[in-house]
Amino acid sequence: MKVPVVDADLCTGCGACVDVCANVFEMGENDIAVVKNPTGAGESDVEEAIDACPSEAISWSEK
Ligand code: SF4
Repeated sequence: MKVPVVDADLCTGCGACVDVCANVFEMGENDIAVVKNPTGAGESDVEEAIDACPSEAISWSEK
């Protein structure tokens, strides 16, 4: 199964992923985005968040 992951080292805390896809992403500690529910939205919505991330911090991972 394919799930989105956020690389905390790359995330700048801009919040774009949360704006685009709040069912999957939320801002966590230190203003770094975290995946709160990997299956909270469809693949295309997650792709939109990946495209919106200015630091390319979001990617897919096989679980
Ligand atoms: S869009 Fe990218 S840089 Fe911005 S908060 Fe989300 S993961 Fe972090």
